[in-house]
Amino acid sequence: MNEFEIIKHYFTADSGRKDVLMGPGDDCALLQVPPQTWLAVSTDTLVAGVHFFPDMDPVALGHKALAVNLSDLAAMGADPRWVSLALTLPSADEGWIKGFCAGFFELAEYYNVALVGGDMTKGPLSITVTVHGTLPEGKGLRRSGARAGDGIYVTGTLGDAALGLQQRLGQVAVPDEYLDFVRTKFEHPHPRILAGQALRDIASSALDLSDGLLGDLGHIMRASGVRAQLELEQLPLSEAMQAAVPEESGWELALTGGDDYELCFTVPETHRGLLDTALAHCGVKFTRVGRILAGDPGVELLAEGKPYRLQAQSWDHFRSA
Ligand code: ADP
Ligand code: MG
Repeated sequence: MNEFEIIKHYFTADSGRKDVLMGPGDDCALLQVPPQTWLAVSTDTLVAGVHFFPDMDPVALGHKALAVNLSDLAAMGADPRWVSLALTLPSADEGWIKGFCAGFFELAEYYNVALVGGDMTKGPLSITVTVHGTLPEGKGLRRSGARAGDGIYVTGTLGDAALGLQQRLGQVAVPDEYLDFVRTKFEHPHPRILAGQALRDIASSALDLSDGLLGDLGHIMRASGVRAQLELEQLPLSEAMQAAVPEESGWELALTGGDDYELCFTVPETHRGLLDTALAHCGVKFTRVGRILAGDPGVELLAEGKPYRLQAQSWDHFRSA
């Protein structure tokens, strides 16, 4: 198949979305943006050998390429609508493309996101996805809204993707019964779309965790001009994590491990009750891990109420953001 046949055969499935006036096939996609809405747009690129192992299962890769982008929409509280896909492939390997599409479209259908266009080029394997979502005018969970007194929360458990990566690299032994779990967390992240939407009128700030809580929370601190105090005993560690490594290593993976794609968000005390109800409705587990303080932007770590210094990274507990 040539490039155009591949696009036609694999990338032009009709999503059924009524707001797609023109999907793949013309010079541009034409999309109906509802009145009184804002567009939320985000792009991420995954490069073979940098962001994923070149031999990664194409089904998992198709899923992940879309999932990491949807995670950004989730972190903004946006409703996903449309996606475009730029693929750079070393060759037109149809088996690979078929697998990639299976993973990509399964997730796209789950969230009712339409693939509306893209690009195909030949070269070293790389995948660029751009997602478009919408927000009611004036809404959106920015990084800049955290205020002293707010609680700091995360969804799910932290560090599992990094544990999966270390296991894959042979750096840590994970008990057999947890292998599937950590591998799924690493290769098959689930974007927290429903949680993001539920937090739209509750959280004061939010982001998704792609580089580890410590660094990512630092972005909120800088954008908001406040400090964070994290209580390490509160960090949600999975059963797999607790079975595989000592507690302090678990904290370290939770703080510095990438690829979790959970949400980190802050909530004013006055909204605490709303939070319980909203997230219970979408079935997402969440944990309060610390609080926001006034002061110079930075993240303080406390263990048993005392300042804690990370071992491996030799990061100061007052590491400035
Ligand atoms: P142009 O050269 O005008 O940019 P292309 O040949 O790159 O057009 O693409 C032709 C059509 O196919 C466009 O509508 C484009 O959006 C669509 N397309 C190309 N690659 C993909 C892809 N990977 N997924 C979905 N649509 C694609
Ligand atoms: Mg083009």
